[in-house]
Amino acid sequence: MRKKLVVGNWKMNGGQSQNAALIDGVRGSVPEGVDVVVCPPYPYLAQVKTLVAGAGVGLGAQDLSPRKGGAFTGDVAASMLLDVGCEWVLVGHSERRTLHGEDNRLVAEKVAAALDAGLTPILCVGETLDERDGGRAEAVVSAQVAAVVDVLGLVAMAKVVVAYEPVWAIGTGRTATPEQAEVMHACIREGLRVAGVAADGVRILYGGSVTAANAASLFAMPDIDGALVGGASLVADGFSSICAAAAAS
Ligand code: PEP
Repeated sequence: MRKKLVVGNWKMNGGQSQNAALIDGVRGSVPEGVDVVVCPPYPYLAQVKTLVAGAGVGLGAQDLSPRKGGAFTGDVAASMLLDVGCEWVLVGHSERRTLHGEDNRLVAEKVAAALDAGLTPILCVGETLDERDGGRAEAVVSAQVAAVVDVLGLVAMAKVVVAYEPVWAIGTGRTATPEQAEVMHACIREGLRVAGVAADGVRILYGGSVTAANAASLFAMPDIDGALVGGASLVADGFSSICAAAAAS
């Protein structure tokens, strides 16, 4: 049985006082039996590490460099994330792929760098609306996952968390139906299994306009192992309710 995981992606939001209020609101309502993680912007990682102490909330970053260190202005190495208390890192979020031109190869290198340093990468994959309307959703997402399997190999891939995030559902208020999401999650798991990865142990999160209102129906699906939550993770009550729905599923 896979333990549910709920990850809050704060994106480029927050500030020291807002972060403190948000974690304060979540403290005490993190349920047993669910992994809960927040991913603040880089400048707040150390602050949030202190804030989450004793709250049952883990710390993740939103991106990392594939390189170990050196003359790479503006980049942040996996070892630095580990050094400030991160255990998790998002990789290949659609906003990174679209706005920063990250391709499957670079994403795979970042996933490898995270694992090498001892972080758990959360590999984000997902199709655009054009790709879905063109009947290519499964092929696109399978290729995104396969590119990482090729670089990592089968054993390392089993340590990765996958987040299926249809691009058309991110920040739009338009969620995939539980059935649409389940089809994609089952496809990802089957692709991993066929490749030879120990797929039954891989957690596959759904992301895309998850809220307290739709979380329970998504979590009821057999291959949905939690959620990557953007907007709704910025409001303590909503985020706590999503975590509670994960615990109840
Ligand atoms: C995300 O940023 O990964 C995300 C899913 O955002 P939202 O929940 O706001 O759609």
